Amino acid sequence: MRFWIGNGINKNKQMVEHLQRYGVISSMKVAEVMETIDRALFVPDGASAYVDSPMAIGYNATISAPHMHATCLQLLEQNLQPGMHALDVGSGTGYLTACFAIMVGPQGRAVGVEHIPELVASSIKNIEKSAAAPLLKEGSLSVHAGDGRQGWPECAPYDAIHVGAAAPEIPQALLDQLKPGGRMVIPVGNMFQDLKVVDKNMEGSISIRSETSVRYVPLTSRDAQLRGY
Ligand code: SAH
Repeated sequence: MRFWIGNGINKNKQMVEHLQRYGVISSMKVAEVMETIDRALFVPDGASAYVDSPMAIGYNATISAPHMHATCLQLLEQNLQPGMHALDVGSGTGYLTACFAIMVGPQGRAVGVEHIPELVASSIKNIEKSAAAPLLKEGSLSVHAGDGRQGWPECAPYDAIHVGAAAPEIPQALLDQLKPGGRMVIPVGNMFQDLKVVDKNMEGSISIRSETSVRYVPLTSRDAQLRGY
């Protein structure tokens, strides 16, 4: 799916307005954070940043399309309130990790985990140019190299977990690191994938629903990814 092709759309704010007009963004908070974090700082140099399309970022990875970023931010909004903890698995360019950090604020914690060290390094450079730079400096935002299927236990439990790559099944470690009352948004499947919304209820039980069908790169080992899956 693609809502527009971006002819003449060269401004981040206009991209956000498009997403509002098409009904993808209904939340003011999500509109605000997407206006605050300029997508152009996160796409490869020269790429058309504001087109509603995923884009290759090297290492067989992609930055998700703006409407997918918006959808995930909206699904997680209640779990990204000031002071909350958020985990971004497969953080890639760092775009969503930066959005999470702005939303949870300096009293909160936003953690990215990405298994390609080069992408970790470039995502940190991207974030340093963005409005989230002070949060990175102060330490409420961090990005780490590692296998995101293991989560990031150090800052657990999380109010919000986002997974940016499709898992054959939901990793147990991520379920374990979700706080009671917490929510995880994760694409699940192989060829055909559903974006699942996983809620951990206050007494610890799990409920899962499918939001929409999606196509993400796989959540896999670094070797498999670099081999081209
Ligand atoms: N949300 C990111 C999506 C990047 S694509 C963005 O919009 O920029 C998915 C990312 O998941 C890739 O960067 C890929 O390297 C990473 N990935 C895949 N399997 C992983 C794993 N097991 N652990 C950590 N990162 C992984």
